[in-house]
Amino acid sequence: MISVELINTGSELLLGATLNTHAQWLARRLSDSGYTVVRQTSIPDTAKAIEEALREALSRVDVVVMTGGLGPTSDDLTRDRVAAMLGLRLLEDAETVRRIEAFFAQRQKPMPARTRVQAMAPEGAEILLNDFGTAPGLAFELVAHPLGSGRSRSFLALLPGPPRELRPMFDRYLMPWLQRRAPLATEWACRTLRTVGLGESMAEEIIEGPLQGLVELGLRIGYCAHVGQVDVRFSREGEGSQQLVEEASRKAGKLLKEWIFGEGTESLEGGVLEALRASGNKLAISESCTGGLLTHRLTNIPGASDVVIAGVVSYANAAKSAILGVPEELIEAHGAVSREVAASMAEGVRHRLGADYGLSITGIAGPGGGTDGKPVGTVFLAIAWQSGTRVIKRFNPYDRLTFKEVTSSQALDLLRRELANIGRDEPSS
Ligand code: ATP
Ligand code: MG
Repeated sequence: MISVELINTGSELLLGATLNTHAQWLARRLSDSGYTVVRQTSIPDTAKAIEEALREALSRVDVVVMTGGLGPTSDDLTRDRVAAMLGLRLLEDAETVRRIEAFFAQRQKPMPARTRVQAMAPEGAEILLNDFGTAPGLAFELVAHPLGSGRSRSFLALLPGPPRELRPMFDRYLMPWLQRRAPLATEWACRTLRTVGLGESMAEEIIEGPLQGLVELGLRIGYCAHVGQVDVRFSREGEGSQQLVEEASRKAGKLLKEWIFGEGTESLEGGVLEALRASGNKLAISESCTGGLLTHRLTNIPGASDVVIAGVVSYANAAKSAILGVPEELIEAHGAVSREVAASMAEGVRHRLGADYGLSITGIAGPGGGTDGKPVGTVFLAIAWQSGTRVIKRFNPYDRLTFKEVTSSQALDLLRRELANIGRDEPSS
């Protein structure tokens, strides 16, 4: 086992001003690759905190990954403190100076003198390129270092604070470096199947029995529930792990087929867009209570414009009639939150925008507006295509933001199922 500790520096993390997303992101990446994260620490940007945390961590584990404080400002102390602790001289790296100059030249901005400090690298450190900023990362292999508490080798990496710089640097440069310098002692395999529309315990109930034999051979199964989605993770270490994990995901893949939308870090919205593109279909959306979240999620994916024609937020009844052509009498007769209006919204947006599929959402997010017949959390979702319309009813009695998140996932799932021709649990209207 190769043990890892994460140290996230940044006073803003301790003030509650910034959420420490590095802890989650790095832990996920490392553990999916077979490294064992045993501790995460957040500390302020002070020399004392940095030194204490690093000293303790190096005495405990094989690999320490530290984030933040590599920038050019006076609160960025990490590079200096680490070099001092390790007894390494700081030398200017000519290639890094060149890269920093090019960075500013390309943006047609003058290069502040202070930025140059980022090109200072402790002697012998591996420089990890920063493709999205100026501060490179640094990686150290420490051989029988006094701070390593008798370890013959330990590893230390320093990464910049901004997520858009840290993430690509980790994937492109640090992980390959680590795998080369600190390879796992045994075979390791890990796969994650992503599902939607299925509770955690339900997922377990379906696969537990059939996978029992593999569990006895050392397969580990983990369940991780997100809003409206459940990830099922298979992992194992030791000889034959690749094959065993493959077999587990193949078996589970068959059993959970209708709920699986992707693997690893694939997203539901990404999968739906891909399916639309592959089938040559275009989509138009009309949302009421989700206020545009469904369209937002789809348009977060690059290339969404190939398949998404429009997203209409038709909040008021008048907008449903004026923009989508939902008959006023229909709203009067059944209410805006109804099977009939959901169907009419989906058909209207499809027809008016010339889409292949129309998708609609109408519901009561709360906390007000509920009735006995239609309590807060009631929602109707509809999909319309050339030859039919399907409406489903869901009950999502959560706070407004969770309601929006869950409901937009249900809409994506409705479309996903339609495109894949699977499991229709309710009849067409
Ligand atoms: P810079 O050159 O931008 O100063 P840096 O390496 O010195 O980079 P920091 O100053 O520590 O890094 O952090 C820069 C920004 O990165 C912070 O303002 C914050 O928005 C973000 N950031 C830092 N640490 C984290 C973290 N653990 N999780 C999420 N965001 C973070
Ligand atoms: Mg900084």
